[in-house]
Amino acid sequence: MTTSVTRVPAGHGTDNGRPRVVIIGSGFGGLFAARSLAKSPVDITLIGKTAHHLFQPLLYQVATGILSEGEIAPATREVLRHQKNVTTVLGEVVEIDLTARTVTSVVLGRRTVHPYDELIVAAGAGQSYFGNDQFAEFAPGMKSIDDALELRGRIFGAFELAELATDQEEIDRLLTFVVVGAGPTGVEMAGQIAELSRRTLRRDFRRIDPTSARVILLDAASAVLPSFGEKLGERARRQLAEGGVEVQLGAMVTDVDANGIEVKDGDGQIRRIRAATKIWAAGVQASGLGRILGEQSGAEVDRAGRISVLPDLTLPGHPEVHVVGDMMALDKLPGVAQVAIQGGRYAADAIKRRLAGKQPAAPFHYKDKGSMATISRFHAVVDLGGRLKFEGFIAWVMWLALHLLYIVGFRSRLTAALHWTVSFLGRGRSQRVATQQQVYGRLALEQLGPGWEASKTGGPKQATDAGGDMTGRESA
Ligand SMILES: Cc1cc2nc3c(=O)[nH]c(=O)nc-3n(C[C@H](O)[C@H](O)[C@H](O)COP(=O)(O)OP(=O)(O)OC[C@H]3O[C@@H](n4cnc5c(N)ncnc54)[C@H](O)[C@@H]3O)c2cc1C
Repeated sequence: MTTSVTRVPAGHGTDNGRPRVVIIGSGFGGLFAARSLAKSPVDITLIGKTAHHLFQPLLYQVATGILSEGEIAPATREVLRHQKNVTTVLGEVVEIDLTARTVTSVVLGRRTVHPYDELIVAAGAGQSYFGNDQFAEFAPGMKSIDDALELRGRIFGAFELAELATDQEEIDRLLTFVVVGAGPTGVEMAGQIAELSRRTLRRDFRRIDPTSARVILLDAASAVLPSFGEKLGERARRQLAEGGVEVQLGAMVTDVDANGIEVKDGDGQIRRIRAATKIWAAGVQASGLGRILGEQSGAEVDRAGRISVLPDLTLPGHPEVHVVGDMMALDKLPGVAQVAIQGGRYAADAIKRRLAGKQPAAPFHYKDKGSMATISRFHAVVDLGGRLKFEGFIAWVMWLALHLLYIVGFRSRLTAALHWTVSFLGRGRSQRVATQQQVYGRLALEQLGPGWEASKTGGPKQATDAGGDMTGRESA
């Protein structure tokens, strides 16, 4: 493959003299930063590894056939089409030069160098297997549309294969689903697989009984949803059990292979669970761009790859470089959407103030609006920043309303509402299509060689050490 390099002309400001703002990442931090600069006299280049903005909190609904991928991942270009000061660029950022003030992105061998006057880095985080990356082959994580579609294929495919199997042991293996990590993502995923087997698929098969599927949620920690506190965690555990989920706590995963998973219990005993479908919802690792920034600025990078930022979300000696969202480490803030959204807006505001010759704003202050997780149809838990904690139907309605509000785009909101009506009031799930490419594509690409993607692009890998739970959302 040939490599071409495009260099956007350097210099302070653009040809029209307006400052250049480069934003890396089209997730929550990047998108909200770009929008906050809509009326500013700047030229923004928004560089994203994918062409879409992804609403990660609803990935599990794509994986379990409730929503389509388009509903949670609108094209970034479309979202920002009316904002004339933004140019959207597809590409993976592989280099940042803090001295030259340039960012280099690559897509299929085409390298583009983007000079900046202000830089907002919001490249988020990926999955962490705590140093056991070999688990990924058998237990996909849930961080991207690719992941969700692969999981959809694996989950629905397991029921199809079970229908064909003749050996009871094999049927049992195919109808056992293990979700690792009892944070919100794992809880939501396990709850939905149980509901899928007990409601949606109940009458769809002739030889197997889908309601007999075993759904196991396991975690090395001693509680479900630890960040929600003991009481809500215990209620969530009970609700999951009522819905058919076996919750196994104090169980640490020691090995994963095609046929099952090996766990070590609190008493040191090692046991094996035979299961065709394993899902990894435990642990996250910040973008490798954190390390690149850390090496050049001297800012500390923690085990989970997050870079320490100053109270104004910039890097030491580089007031023009802002880092927001899952990539940044500040005051033990959790890796949640609101931290990224508020951080993105704060960084945009700092740029506006500088341009207007105003004093810098007060240090970043995160307003905790609370967190929530659905357990099953009509049942959720809500923690309003520790002030008020409750669960049940009202919590679920709140969850529904808030998620509808934050889905980007009126059309997506409308169709999501329609699909929810079909799935929650009725039994149906309209997004059950899964192709072989979705199931095997990732493995086929990986067989091209380890790190082929990074070698193709020279791209930064996720920081590789066994980073701990950086968000407080998920643990293993
Ligand atoms: C399954 C799941 C469920 C979740 N549920 C909730 C929830 O219920 N509530 C909640 O508050 N939070 C939830 N979160 C966490 C929340 O989604 C994140 O905290 C939030 O997305 C962080 O925003 P961000 O902008 O930092 O990163 P992201 O939203 O991850 O965006 C990062 C962006 O950077 C791009 N990118 C990465 N590397 C590069 C590169 N080298 N070059 C160019 N672009 C790059 C990515 O493609 C992406 O567009 C969930 C996360 C997951 C994975």
